[in-house]
Amino acid sequence: MKPDDLMAYTKSIGADLVGFARVEDLDESVGSLPEQFIPGARSIIVIGLKMVDGILDRLTGEINHWSFNLKSYLFNYHYMELEKMSGLTARFLEKQGYSAYPIQVLAGGTPRKEGLLHSAFAFKRAAVAAGLGNIGKNTLLITPEFGPRVRLACLVTDAPLPSTRKKDELLTPEQVCGSCKICIEKCPVSALGVNTIDKQKCQFWMDQCQCALCMAVCPKGKRGEKRATG
Ligand code: SF4
Ligand code: SF4
Repeated sequence: MKPDDLMAYTKSIGADLVGFARVEDLDESVGSLPEQFIPGARSIIVIGLKMVDGILDRLTGEINHWSFNLKSYLFNYHYMELEKMSGLTARFLEKQGYSAYPIQVLAGGTPRKEGLLHSAFAFKRAAVAAGLGNIGKNTLLITPEFGPRVRLACLVTDAPLPSTRKKDELLTPEQVCGSCKICIEKCPVSALGVNTIDKQKCQFWMDQCQCALCMAVCPKGKRGEKRATG
């Protein structure tokens, strides 16, 4: 199987971003070891789907009809599309003779239940290893194409895929964001600090209204704004 064919297939079913990370390029910050999903795991495939701008542009970080619409959008469309692309890509790999494990999309956030495999894989870390972007001060993946306005899916596979990270250089949040601190100032529950996040505060507010304000206010994701280069 040519890696380019896999890349082209995943984009043909709707992925906006696709990257490959080698297992040896991941460190413990990713959470569960890829071997726990697939014996002989060699690669991670990271899929990015861009959020719809109109949904994000209306968010205020409060519980209102805009936040209810965000919730409906995420659970009835965005996460389902990611699950579907992840499953179809796994089937594509199986047809080529490889094993693949599409990780549940909602497991891609902060591990909340230690010890449970399905809740402990940091998709953002895998995305950085795959060269899709770097982490910003809002602790989100900042991509050159869409800023933080993407959500991710990950598959583990025993297919040997070349890393799509073009340069070894990892950017710090300060290098990604410069002097900007809009997300820190706008967070409704003051969960963001300089390169830190109070996960409990954020999760509490996310449970109330999905929030995503730190994604919505980031100038790097807005149309017409200069994009990140990380
Ligand atoms: S850190 Fe959490 S609570 Fe704060 S803006 Fe981001 S999603 Fe909202
Ligand atoms: S809002 Fe500013 S500080 Fe926050 S992630 Fe975006 S560029 Fe970085």
